[in-house]
Amino acid sequence: MITKETEAELATLRAKQAEFLARVKARGGNVLEFTAPCCGGKQETHAPTTPIEPGERPWSSMATCTNCGAMYMKNTYHDHVAAAIPPELEKA
Ligand SMILES: [Zn+2]
Repeated sequence: MITKETEAELATLRAKQAEFLARVKARGGNVLEFTAPCCGGKQETHAPTTPIEPGERPWSSMATCTNCGAMYMKNTYHDHVAAAIPPELEKA
């Protein structure tokens, strides 16, 4: 269940992320839509503009779902995002 505090934090996070992604798009950056692994909500992220070369790694980071507030890991490629909740963080 999402508390009022969490809902307010998520609203702030959504606003900051929307502002950031709008700037990325305005400068010709690559923004991808993907499905959050926690709740299935729609998420967007800044992604590389070119394919990952052999030997290179995708952009890898922790992320907070702007829909439900859960944290997950994501590997971002130029054309898709691989997002998953680490087994240690799975809900019991
Ligand atoms: Zn979520």
